[in-house]
Amino acid sequence: MIKAIFFDFDGTLADTAPAIVRTAQESFRMMGLPVPSDETVRQTIGIPLTQALQKQGNLSDAEAVRAAEIYADNFLTFEGPLVKVFPHVKETLSELRTMGLGMAICTSRNKESLEYILEHRELKEFFSLKLTNNDRLTPKPAPDMVLALLERTGLGADEVLVVGDTTFDIEMGNRAGCRTVAVTYGNHSREQLLTASPDWVIDDFRELLSVVNKANSATGEITLARAQQMVDEWIHTYGVRYFSELTNMAVLTEEVGELARIMSRKYGDQSFKPGEPTDPSDEMADVLWVLLCLANQTGVNITDAFVKNLEKKTSRDKNRHINNPKLK
Ligand SMILES: [Mg+2]
Repeated sequence: MIKAIFFDFDGTLADTAPAIVRTAQESFRMMGLPVPSDETVRQTIGIPLTQALQKQGNLSDAEAVRAAEIYADNFLTFEGPLVKVFPHVKETLSELRTMGLGMAICTSRNKESLEYILEHRELKEFFSLKLTNNDRLTPKPAPDMVLALLERTGLGADEVLVVGDTTFDIEMGNRAGCRTVAVTYGNHSREQLLTASPDWVIDDFRELLSVVNKANSATGEITLARAQQMVDEWIHTYGVRYFSELTNMAVLTEEVGELARIMSRKYGDQSFKPGEPTDPSDEMADVLWVLLCLANQTGVNITDAFVKNLEKKTSRDKNRHINNPKLK
């Protein structure tokens, strides 16, 4: 069961690239050095600042330290105001929090600038746990930041998703034994990201909700309670509202009819018309879906109902079927 998500920050939660490019270029300009191209700067986003600047301008160690100081001075003028949160990030984080998932950030960014952006872009409330360059851990793509977060949260690697926009993030997550999600709207292209073998690739932050569900179903760990919750989340995210109880009762009848059609053709004496679906699994899922809708709408806890029903069947029928000669 997925219990927490560890997020990269730049290019994953917030679009910081134009801000970083501008600030880096201004810093080089102020030092009287050749100004790196937009693409050169972009390719270094995700690694610690001093190393990034060193790469961008082939700087000596001393020059890189000086460049990082100038960059830090320029942060509030250029970078801070230009940062934008990506679409659907806030709603999705809020939804993930409602689902009971823990959320942490592991970034190569310095603590001060991260805190500044979280505060000024209304993201602060979602993250109590953050690891930054100030924690002095071996930077991405080493797994150390994720391993440190696992230790602090007491979670197992199989209970965590690592989400990022660069191969550095994916490699970090994979090396820590977590499952990984690459976002394509950040600093590395889909093709680049695929070379690091992420478990999932998403184009929109909102898709993270379905990744969590897929991750849980891949390990067979959707409980009945969780399934009820998943239906409710879907209805409120995509369905606007539930159909009325009576409408859903009619839909349930229709879905049972569609399952009956497949069963009668596949296992009974009827035959399929050309092009008709032959797999009953999708219809079974439809039946379950509408049933869970009705349970949510009528306040039924399916887990309790199922357990009570099983007890009732046992006490009522425990000898009935064993004594039925037709079943022998
Ligand atoms: Mg990033």
